Amino acid sequence: MHKKKILEKDKQILFRNWQKSQLIKNKAVLQAFQSVNRELFVDPSYLDLSYSDQPLPIGSGQTISQPTTVALMLQILNISPEHRILEVGTGSGYNAALLSKLGELVVTIERHKELVKLARKNLLSAGLEKVKVVEGDGKLGYSSLAPFDRIIITAATEDVPKNLKDQLTVGGLLVAPIGPTHGCEMKKIVKVSLNDFQTSSHGLFSFVPLV
Ligand code: SAH
Repeated sequence: MHKKKILEKDKQILFRNWQKSQLIKNKAVLQAFQSVNRELFVDPSYLDLSYSDQPLPIGSGQTISQPTTVALMLQILNISPEHRILEVGTGSGYNAALLSKLGELVVTIERHKELVKLARKNLLSAGLEKVKVVEGDGKLGYSSLAPFDRIIITAATEDVPKNLKDQLTVGGLLVAPIGPTHGCEMKKIVKVSLNDFQTSSHGLFSFVPLV
């Protein structure tokens, strides 16, 4: 079978598993997954594993997250089309690509120059150059385009940086894996008023660290 056809088949298997298990129910998230090809964001040497449900190396000691983890985080984020979104930890740009299908504006920050270049190239090949990829420390957020309705941190952190909390709209929410790299807890943090946050937990995961 042609490689492209095999990948498409693998993609549909993953999609059906999510539907069968009812793990991913959010229609917009499922649609976003269908409309972005993960193979464009995977290192060519791992092309055949594009839809195997696992993280994969992308260089600079980092990984593209496991598809199910990405989908779960997007589902918790509950994005509306008018939302302005900040992502910390661009990596391959795959999650940013999905975010751009769900919201109005996506700013994503990456500390590794090589990954910034890679993500820009990947997003271009997916026709999603409207995503703003910024090189820098994501812990500082991105004040010139703040506030954001949704913030997602795709690396494990012991606590949520204050700047990110400050750059969230009241009523907005942030999703982040909190704790050690292995066994961090997925948390949803809702900004209920200027100084009040409500936190809920959504299972244990493994992530590369936020540094
Ligand atoms: N969202 C990515 C996966 C990211 S892995 C994807 O879809 O492929 C986490 C990323 O966070 C890594 O690329 C790492 O370099 C980056 N990172 C870690 N600490 C950071 C920081 N302080 N600021 C910006 N990026 C950071």
